[in-house]
Amino acid sequence: MNARKPIVIAHLYPREMNIYGDLGNIIALTKRLQWRGYPVEVRPVEIGQPFDWDAVDIVFGGGGQDAGQYHISDDLVGRGTELRALAADGAPMLTICGTYQLFGRGFTTVDGREIPGIDIFRASTIGSSVRMIGNIVIDTTFGRLVGFENHSGQTILEPGQAPLGRVRKGAGNNPTSGQEGAITQAAIGTYLHGPILPKNPALADHLILTALKRRNGMAELPPLNDRLELAAAKVAIGRPR
Ligand code: GLN
Repeated sequence: MNARKPIVIAHLYPREMNIYGDLGNIIALTKRLQWRGYPVEVRPVEIGQPFDWDAVDIVFGGGGQDAGQYHISDDLVGRGTELRALAADGAPMLTICGTYQLFGRGFTTVDGREIPGIDIFRASTIGSSVRMIGNIVIDTTFGRLVGFENHSGQTILEPGQAPLGRVRKGAGNNPTSGQEGAITQAAIGTYLHGPILPKNPALADHLILTALKRRNGMAELPPLNDRLELAAAKVAIGRPR
């Protein structure tokens, strides 16, 4: 019997914010924790429902259509104080595309709707008529990451806001800056769908180790056999844009 307390993953708006396989990130985190003997509890954050943020170890939010972002925005803004406090406390967070945009200052859609964000990242996003679609490869402190992007929003980081990485192939935050995503303490925003974590196990383990460090001071993770994951990444990196 496993007496460990479950690692709690808060999954932001799974119904509205879940495209291009983003649910695979929850599966990758869950499996990699379970393979190391940690039970996991995934708790959905739903519009209008109360949520206990004190128990949370990892926060995840996926991508979404403009309409989905608009739908969740009031509720997300209402949870801003708690999410900012959790980010400032060093909780690991992974936000993809539509949620990444709303963890910044906000997103002005191509048809002029302003969707406010929660200011965890100093980054603003404006929709454009040209979508950025295709395979994307970036270099980060977690190594080379590969994924798939599909967004109209162009994100500009403010001075002092660190990007997650540099673009090697694809657009990333916008077609000209060469920057991809944002990172503030352990909160990460990125345009990489795919999903990102199954093919980029170093990033998954960074989130997991950060959660375990914060929970119980754990210094390192027992390694897993990532042969298949790394082979998948190699194939994906070799694909044309
Ligand atoms: N709707 C946003 C955009 O088009 C986010 C898209 C996404 O999450 N893939 O920029």
